[in-house]
Amino acid sequence: MSNSEETRVQHVSLPPDKVMHKLVSLAKRRGFVFPSSEIYGGLSSCFDYGPLGSEMKKNIKDLWWNAMTRRHANIVGIDASIMMNPTVWEASGHVASFNDPMIDDRTTKRRYRADHLIENHIEKLRREGKTDKAAAVLAVYEAAAGSPDPNRALHELIVAEAIKAPDTGSGDWTEVRQFNLMFQCNMGAVADTSGIVYLRPETAQGIFVNFHNVREASRMKVPFGIAQIGKAFRNEIVKGNFIFRMVEFEQMEMQYFVKPGTQLEAFEAWRQERFSWYVEELGINAGKLHWYKHDKLAHYADLAYDIKFEFPFGIEEIEGIHSRTDFDLSQHQQYSGKNMEYVDQTTNERYTPYVVETSSGSDRLFLALLSDAYSEDVVDGEPRVMLKLSPKVAPVKAAILPLMKKGEMGEKAGMLRDELSRAFLVQYDDAASIGKRYRRQDEIGTPFCITVDHQSIEDQSVTVRFRDTAAQERIDMSKAKEFLAAKLV
Ligand code: ATP
Repeated sequence: MSNSEETRVQHVSLPPDKVMHKLVSLAKRRGFVFPSSEIYGGLSSCFDYGPLGSEMKKNIKDLWWNAMTRRHANIVGIDASIMMNPTVWEASGHVASFNDPMIDDRTTKRRYRADHLIENHIEKLRREGKTDKAAAVLAVYEAAAGSPDPNRALHELIVAEAIKAPDTGSGDWTEVRQFNLMFQCNMGAVADTSGIVYLRPETAQGIFVNFHNVREASRMKVPFGIAQIGKAFRNEIVKGNFIFRMVEFEQMEMQYFVKPGTQLEAFEAWRQERFSWYVEELGINAGKLHWYKHDKLAHYADLAYDIKFEFPFGIEEIEGIHSRTDFDLSQHQQYSGKNMEYVDQTTNERYTPYVVETSSGSDRLFLALLSDAYSEDVVDGEPRVMLKLSPKVAPVKAAILPLMKKGEMGEKAGMLRDELSRAFLVQYDDAASIGKRYRRQDEIGTPFCITVDHQSIEDQSVTVRFRDTAAQERIDMSKAKEFLAAKLV
């Protein structure tokens, strides 16, 4: 890129609080995300993906699926059902303890997760260098879980630390109460307790219960992994922030079964691999990704980290990487009465495998990618909005723009569209000035605009205009497909 091209583009810096507002509006206007059942006033925390959104989400899921099942010969995929035998959720511990501790602010009538308030407070103390104080608060927090009245203990800690609501600064707290997050429904004609089934709150259990089915069908040997992408449902009490926290969302989970004693090594390898996936495969700005080590582990875990992303509204989890021990397989063995052990055919060792899981949400990731990509700048004196999405993630890979609608230019452009659209999602646009057409594509993140002009008729060449720099390059029309393919590997 020459200097003159660089100076054509002037970046505009945006305050983070403005970005969400602009993103939500762009998402609706350009068909990424709509509020669900909008004509009826919508439904809290439910959203629909529009034409471009569903393409982009599919790209994210395909990239994840390929990173798991194509790049690893020892990982296979499944697609389990959303509703499962209800005993699954007793065994997994969800019926008894998939609860969130909630606290209300009497003044603002807003509801918060009590555990999140405390964890954020500990993080803040650490950032301020008050490490002794942070450790003391953490000790009380950890002890709260084992106290005779954990809700009261959490409440007392919040009050003693004078923790305020992050968004309003108010702190007129009620008692802490537990809410179970599982959605119940009734199967069959009779609405009594015998027909209660749950909408799965995570995809992981569909994998655990299929451990032996998959192992036998695919002749897998430990260590091996099972990957799955699917819907999960949680009756989240605290909602908001667009698609960040939804009641119906999609998870991309992989459970990796290992020999006990080797889990920490596997954990470390997955931790590295997952972080680089976001940066190298999806093009997320590494500076916006953060590690968070769980101080307070779930009862089944012996190590847990989250990958967090700097959303415009704060630093929040996008993926959890958990070392889950043999908890899940052992529980299913106990509740089902079926042996869940693995026998190593070469050594004849028999054991219940340990599990390292990587668990991310495609909707949250979608939002992270959109907010990372959103930018405004001025090109040749003209302001523009742009989604700086990586070509792999961008919904539309290229736009075909004939300089003139009719005649040979239109014909050539039509032929190019037919050829490229066999392999990629491309858009054909012959309406309005070329400048306007570029802007339309920049706003939806299309990385390349291919223009068919007068010269194309003479020498079969086209110009490729690069979204980020607005720089142009002339290529042979017959090489357009190859050119795009090279950008997408
Ligand atoms: P949080 O603490 O934010 O509620 P979590 O720790 O409960 O998240 P996990 O159970 O580890 O989340 O789920 C794994 C991933 O699933 C999360 O990292 C996130 O990307 C996604 N996820 C979880 N809950 C939701 C939700 N309500 N809406 C959208 N995505 C979600």
